[in-house]
Order: sequence, then C-alpha cells, then structure tokens
Amino acid sequence: MSAFLDAFSEVRAFYGGAASPAEHAAFNAGVEAVRQMALIAAVTIEARGDAKEVRQRAAAAALVGLAEGAAQLLAPKPNPVLQAFTAIAEQPGSEGVIPCPACAGRLHWTRAESNGHVWGQCETDGCLSWMQ
Ligand SMILES: [Zn+2]
Repeated sequence: MSAFLDAFSEVRAFYGGAASPAEHAAFNAGVEAVRQMALIAAVTIEARGDAKEVRQRAAAAALVGLAEGAAQLLAPKPNPVLQAFTAIAEQPGSEGVIPCPACAGRLHWTRAESNGHVWGQCETDGCLSWMQ
C-alpha cells in the first residue's frame, strides 16, 4: 500500500504546477475514485456478521487509512495566473486573447518585444489583472 501511495505522490510531483486544467481534473478524479472505493470496501467489511473480529477490524481500519492518504494526494488548485502565463507562452505574436483560467471569460494579453514581459487583463470585473 505504501508503494501505491508513493506512486501517486510521484505522479503528482511530475504534474506539479504545470498540469493543464484537464490533467488536474483527471488526476483528482482518479484519486477521488480510489478514496471512495476504499471507503465503500471499509463500510462493506464493517457490515459483515464477523465485523467485530480483529482481522476484519484491521482490514477496515487499513482501508480507512488508504482513503485518508488518498485525500491528502488531491492536488491543490493550480494558480490561475501561472496557468495564464503557460497559455500565453504558447501563443505567437505580441498580443491576443485567451480564455481566462479563473472565470473562462476573455483575457487580453500583450508581450513586450523588448524584454518579453507579459501584461494581462481579464474582461470580468475584479478578475485577473497583472503587469510584469
Ligand atoms: Zn477572468
């Protein structure tokens, strides 16, 4: 079980902050599925007629531990400004509009030819806005 959790940690470290929103959602959905399966298995064991036996109690406790470990692996929400920088870095030219990673609105950007600094402003009031 430890090797299993280590493998998940490596996957999360690999994705880090560079995961796309779709990769991030897929990773968290997979971890959530593992967590729910472990809890369902634990409840199933606890509902058995021999649930009070040490072996069954140990198995249920181990599954609850797995579920708690999986919950800790849920990747934190990526920073929307970093997501915007990643998306803009893939755009050609010196200005454009991308979908805002925070609100899915229109995010205008310009990139200075001289130093590559990027300015960004979402059309939604109070949403993303920055200058480098
Ligand atoms: Zn926005």
